[in-house]
Parts: sequence; C-alpha cells; structure tokens
Amino acid sequence: MPAPDGKRILLAAPRGYCAGVDRAVDAVEKALALYGAPVYVRKEIVHNKFVVETLSERGAIFVSETDEVPEGARVVFSAHGVSPAVHAQAAARNLATIDATCPLVTKVHKEAVRFATDDYDILLIGHDGHEEVEGTQGEAPEHIQVVNGPHEVDQVQVRDPQKVIWLSQTTLSVDETMQTVRLLRERFPHLQDPPSDDICYATQNRQVAVKKLAPDADVVIVVGSANSSNSVRLVEVALEAGAGAAYRVDKADEIDPAWLDGATSVGLTSGASVPEILVRNVIDRLKELGYTGVEEVRTATEDIMFSLPKNLRADLKGAG
Ligand code: SF4
Repeated sequence: MPAPDGKRILLAAPRGYCAGVDRAVDAVEKALALYGAPVYVRKEIVHNKFVVETLSERGAIFVSETDEVPEGARVVFSAHGVSPAVHAQAAARNLATIDATCPLVTKVHKEAVRFATDDYDILLIGHDGHEEVEGTQGEAPEHIQVVNGPHEVDQVQVRDPQKVIWLSQTTLSVDETMQTVRLLRERFPHLQDPPSDDICYATQNRQVAVKKLAPDADVVIVVGSANSSNSVRLVEVALEAGAGAAYRVDKADEIDPAWLDGATSVGLTSGASVPEILVRNVIDRLKELGYTGVEEVRTATEDIMFSLPKNLRADLKGAG
C-alpha cells in the first residue's frame, strides 16, 4: 500500500543472489559442516563484506594466495575463478581443493582456451586487477589482452586483424560493453563475437530491472560492496537510465537521510553477491524514514541453480 503522502520504495526484481554465488557460499558452508573448521578460502568467496564476515565467524579462513594455506589443508577457490597457475600451486602444496568457480565463468575460461588454441588474438573486455579477469587471462596469457573500456580501444594492437575475438568479464555493464565492441569493430571489422553471451544472465537481469525503475525513482539505492563489480555497475546503470541520484551501501546504517531530501520514490536493488537480509534491513530503515509503500518492479523470473562442486558432492554423499 502506498503511504498517504505517496512515499514509496520501488523494489527491483530480480535482485541479490545469483546461482553462482548461492553455490559458492553453500560450498563453504557445507565444507565447514562436513570437514570441520578451519576451511581455507582463497580470496573473498564472493565480493560481499557481510558474507565474508559471517563465514569467518563460522571458521572459514580467507587468504590472498594459496601459499598462505598450510601444506595438505583444504582450500576453496572463489566464484570468480582461478588461473591454471593457481591450480598448479595448490597441487604442489598438496592442498585439497574445492573449486567454487561459477560455471558461467568456467564457460568463459573454456572459450579463451579454445580460441587461444586456434591462435586468435583475444580481446578480453573487463577490469584489470579483478580476480575474474586475472583467472581468465591466466588461461592463455600470450593470446589475451585486457580492454578496460571504450577509452582503451585505440591502444589495442593485434597480430592478424582477420583472427580477433572479444570475450568479456561476466559482470560488466551491457551497454558500455556493446559500445566498446562497436568501437573495436570499427578498427577490426572481422572481430568475432563470443559463441554465447559472456555477461551472465544474473548481471543482465539485474541491470534490466534497475533500468525499468530508474526513470521513476528520485533516488536509487544499490546494496552491495565496493569491490563487487556488478553492484557498482548497477549504480552507473541506474544513473544512465534516469535516476535522480544513486548510491551504493553495504548495509542499512550507511544510508544518509540527506540523500532522500525531497525524494518521493526510492528505487532499491542489490548486487548478485548480496543476501536478501541486507535488502530487508534497508527496507526497514526506509520505512522508518517514511517510505512505507513497497512496489515490486519485476522484469524477469529466475530459476537457474548450479549443483555443488563435484568432489564436495561426492564427499557429502559418502558421509551419508
Ligand atoms: Fe556466476 Fe553471474 Fe553470479 Fe558471477 S554474477 S557468480 S558469473 S551467475
């Protein structure tokens, strides 16, 4: 029900957890229950502060690199994926690995290997330094160059303009990526497209939903951590789609009431690594601030689920 003064929340759907994040978090939780603490996790399992803190409290130990894991211990690889070099380092230290790489990231790795084997120059559109990009690039470092966005297109050099393909990070802005591709194609008319979309269904769906509500929102709030690529993209997409203003918060108490001065409609969404409880807390906070009407703006329904990593599944089955 809208509030008498019309102050309302436009709640994006889909939002929050995607299938890859759900699987990765579940993998750590199941590993802790099955093998007991500690379970080591290389990098943040997903880019969300709350999730990492909660799993740490239960006995997960987050490390930056595999050499911080004691010889022979168990380590989980994050949803963002790792390069073959990281698998080799883990094997050299006799680590028991659980690979929680999202299957949609693995798909991009496989494309990279396939086109590198065919000796293509691969233009990987993505953000330098992001774990997913490091992992994908590590599959074929000789063949892959990272293109950070439209501003880098002029610098790209390839060996044979007839044999060039673009791939991308899974969590980019769809519109900006297409702009980069258009500019790349002006330079390399034979540029090939990936065999299927690399920007994943969850990233796309969350952007479509926020685009739909943004023109009606005086302010959009995106729940997500600063290092979450898809959350940061949602802020940008909301602004481009016409939101009066857009802010990212990790949690409800980061909302500055001054952001909402004069705002009647507040759009609300969350990145793919954000548990719903954090969104519920923001709704409660907004209600305290007078936004008592909640209207869902749904643009898609998701029913994708990924099964747990194979070796973990086998151990769970063995444990009965
Ligand atoms: Fe997989 Fe997409 Fe989720 Fe990343 S955002 S974990 S690629 S489903």
